[in-house]
Amino acid sequence: MVAVDASETARLSEAIEAVVRALEAFNRFQGPDLAGREESIWRSALDRPVPRSGAGLDAVLRELTQTIIPHGLRVGDAGFSGWMAVAPTTSGTAAALAGTVAGPQRWWVQPFNFLETVALRWLAELLELPGDMQGTFTSGGSVANLIGLGAARQRVLEKHAIDPARDGLPADMRFRIYASDQVHHVVIRAAGVLGLGRSSVVRLPVDRDQRMDLAELRKALESDRADGVIPVALVASAGTVNTGAIDPIDEMVELAAEFESWLHVDGAYGLFGKLDPRLAPLYRGLDKADSLVVDPHKWLAAPVGCGAAFVRDRALLGRAFTTVPADYLEGAASTGEVSSPFDHFGELYHNFNVEQSAPSRGVQVWAILREIGVDGLRERIIRHNDFARRLASRVKDDEHLELLAEPTLSICCFRYRRPDMEEAQLEELNAEIARRLRAEGEYVPSTTRVASRFAIRPAYINPRTTVAEVDGLADRVRRIGDELAGPGGAAGEL
Ligand SMILES: *Cc1c(COP(=O)(O)O)cnc(C)c1O
Repeated sequence: MVAVDASETARLSEAIEAVVRALEAFNRFQGPDLAGREESIWRSALDRPVPRSGAGLDAVLRELTQTIIPHGLRVGDAGFSGWMAVAPTTSGTAAALAGTVAGPQRWWVQPFNFLETVALRWLAELLELPGDMQGTFTSGGSVANLIGLGAARQRVLEKHAIDPARDGLPADMRFRIYASDQVHHVVIRAAGVLGLGRSSVVRLPVDRDQRMDLAELRKALESDRADGVIPVALVASAGTVNTGAIDPIDEMVELAAEFESWLHVDGAYGLFGKLDPRLAPLYRGLDKADSLVVDPHKWLAAPVGCGAAFVRDRALLGRAFTTVPADYLEGAASTGEVSSPFDHFGELYHNFNVEQSAPSRGVQVWAILREIGVDGLRERIIRHNDFARRLASRVKDDEHLELLAEPTLSICCFRYRRPDMEEAQLEELNAEIARRLRAEGEYVPSTTRVASRFAIRPAYINPRTTVAEVDGLADRVRRIGDELAGPGGAAGEL
């Protein structure tokens, strides 16, 4: 073959095998995590000006396998329970690679287009959503929330004979989005991007279980109605990222109807929790939501860059996000017999979204669900929810540990404590425990605040985690806390 371009377009198995060998070594998570400690080494190796002449594929593979991958992010490690980050499992990784090469666009008549539709339908089926909801894959929860709230904005303004997607927002109307103070910050940004303004989101107090306080919500809706403020949407978090609390969806559906608003459910993390039969009642009303969000790249452990939004009214969603079609896209809309994949665009998603070119994500969700089925996912959800409960009961049995929020899903918020310590000392002590946990690297949870108290917050979504890491974290927090606080229980060195 005559090379016509500087890029290698062959040698794929050789390149991928080299990378995969390095990835398999990485995925054993052996030895200490050196990414942080060796930052100066990999930075100086990588931080170069743009090369004038290329170094060739072999140099790329060498740096990938020797410098980059070994210093990669170890969120797949069994002891990692921090944030909402997880490393993909094997089938999703393979599917992502397949899509990158053989499905570089998700449209036209080909399996990667069809699998967008199949995978969205599978998600709808496993979450028991109404069959006519229009789904669309997104890059994650951020864009999925933007899609849902964009549809809400369209609906509320169309009722006032305004098309906001076409004409923008009128200056003389005031808008409000209602959420609890536990709402994810991307919902607030979505309000900014949609022109409603971040300040249009009211963050209402939660009850003792960290759920939306319905009396406060009603009060805010009534007072805004009296002021002529337009309620664009009520946002229910189904699994807050702080504690995993699930807002009362069903009651919020009713309030949304009463105030002629829209009910949006942000379940980026927690919507899959519905598969746990113990928790299913908490999702009552989900089938009546106007829009909802779920992130396959969280609990389903799909490769990152895979979120999904579902909107009940397909035509409305189309009006909210349609593009003005370009001439060059018109040609391939033939309705006759398909003799080429390019005769037809297949199922179109770019009019339900903010992306045109996008990776094939359906194939990833398809691969994972084909591999483990709904039952496999359900087992994972139940196992992880059990982890949080097991940890909570260990914490309750230990006089030097304190539970800060009863787990709903797979998050357990707790802290180390000594009865004679002030709040400020406890805060400092627990922050230091979290720093040491990160430095040791064996058990890495994240932290948050629960009712203004600093909390250690493991969130279990990692398929590799076992009960040993759950107990290990509890033991380690206890040990580090004891070391820092000293034997007498006095504040010691702190
Ligand atoms: C993770 C998360 C988001 C943000 O989603 P990304 O996929 O990170 O963009 C929004 N809301 C909730 C409840 C989340 O858990």
